[in-house]
Formats: sequence, structure tokens, C-alpha cells
Amino acid sequence: MWGGRTGALLRVWGLWPAGVRGRRPLGCNAASLAGNNSPQCWNCGGPGVPKRGDGFFCPQCRALQPPDLTRDYFSLMDCNRAFAVDTAKLQNRYQQLQRLVHPDFFSQRSQTEKDFSEKHATLVNDAYKTLLAPLSRGLYLLKLHGVEIAEGTDYAMDQQFLMEIMEINEKLAEAQSEAAMKEIESIVRAKQKELSDNVSKAFEQGLAEPSVATW
Ligand SMILES: [Zn+2]
Repeated sequence: MWGGRTGALLRVWGLWPAGVRGRRPLGCNAASLAGNNSPQCWNCGGPGVPKRGDGFFCPQCRALQPPDLTRDYFSLMDCNRAFAVDTAKLQNRYQQLQRLVHPDFFSQRSQTEKDFSEKHATLVNDAYKTLLAPLSRGLYLLKLHGVEIAEGTDYAMDQQFLMEIMEINEKLAEAQSEAAMKEIESIVRAKQKELSDNVSKAFEQGLAEPSVATW
């Protein structure tokens, strides 16, 4: 992952999500998961649930089915596969999924369903956190398009950007009033929007090309 100094700077800008470092790889081991490739319900052997959509439960016996690990986070969270996401919608979806699969609702159910609910809940949490923070969302999007960013990769920071951050840090240190803090906050927000828009544009242009590895 990126260097600590860069991480600290990005954290200032709210671009560095918590919990990204050490996040386990996104590789799917769906094939090794018993029952995941089978459309049948593990409990009653019924036709099971369609791959797409929100059929987490068997329509016949209502048993919770195992998570589909081949489904990407954008699909799970019902978001367009793009850098720009509607975070309010993402949050609603997160709450909706929590209400369906949270382990608290399975305390009286079979051990198998308890285990599945744990897996669903972990997956939903990971998906939500990954898509909520711009940096992890961008990296995940790149990964879906086959672009891997190696651990420990560091990037030379734009000098002008560094200067801007230093200026803001100075202003923050000197800020004496709430009004001054609010002013700094609005500067940071504007800059953040500008940067996000740039990344969004780069994704739209880059992903239309055969390779996005060059930007
Ligand atoms: Zn069933």
C-alpha cells in the first residue's frame, strides 16, 4: 500500500479510508465453497435462488443461502460500477442488507445459517467500507479492470498539491475561531471535490480505453 507519509497526507483530505491497509485480497475462492456453484438450496434441495438479485433466502424453505462470492461489491451494493457513487444510496443499501443478514437475526436458527449470516455480514461490511471511501473504491475499481497496485507502491506527490496541504496545515494550526475552522473546512471540501471530479473523469476516459494502466 502507499507510503505512510502519503497516507497521512491523504488522511488529511479524507481520501484515505480506515482499514484499507491489510485488507485481505479480493480474489474469489467461490469455486471452493460448497454449494456456491449449485443453484440448489443447501437445506431442502429446492431450485434455490436466482444468481442475480436479492434472493438470499430459499423461496421454498426460507433458509439463508451462502453468499455469492463471485458477485462484485458494486453489484452487491446495487451501485453503478463507476468511481462516482451516490453515498446516501450506498448507505441505504447497507442498512437494507444489514436488516436481511445480520447475525443477530439468526441466533435461533441452525448453525449453518448462523455461519452464512456471519459471512454475509462480513462481506456486506467489506463492500460498504470499500465503496464508501474514494481511495479504496478507486483501487477496487482498478482491480476489477485488472489493474493491480502492488503493496508498498509510493507515488511522487505533485509539488503544488503538497504546498497546498502545507498551507492548510498552517492555517489549521493558526485557526483561533470556529469561523476560521469553517473557512478551512470549505476550502478542503472544494479541493476534495475538485480531486474527486478529476479521478472520476480519469476513470471515465481510462476505462473506455483498452488499458487504464498508463494514467
Ligand atoms: Zn430451501
